[in-house]
This record gives sequence, structure tokens and C-alpha cells, in this order.
Amino acid sequence: MTDTDRAKPGDAAPPGTTGTGENLCRHCNGSGRIESGPCPDCAGTGKVTEPIGGA
Ligand SMILES: [Zn+2]
Repeated sequence: MTDTDRAKPGDAAPPGTTGTGENLCRHCNGSGRIESGPCPDCAGTGKVTEPIGGA
């Protein structure tokens, strides 16, 4: 993986956690950027780790 695959403010769980997966960041819609600069939730990656399935 890459250096960007690490915990970010928008992550609900650390990467690799069972029951979670990468998802497009809702804050920046996966662009990694917002008007003022890099997205703070996904650290500019456009992706966050969130629970998947269930719910
Ligand atoms: Zn984002």
C-alpha cells in the first residue's frame, strides 16, 4: 500500500479492521479537496475507512 493508507480524521476505524472498507469521502465527494484546500476528513486522499455491510 502507500503512505496515505493510514488513519485519517474521517476514518471510522483503522484500515484493515474487520467489517470496514474504504469508501469515498463524503466531505469532499472523493475528490480529496475542498474549496479551501485538502480535505481534512480524508487527508486529501478522497477515501475514508468506514463500516460496510450490515446496518
Ligand atoms: Zn475528503
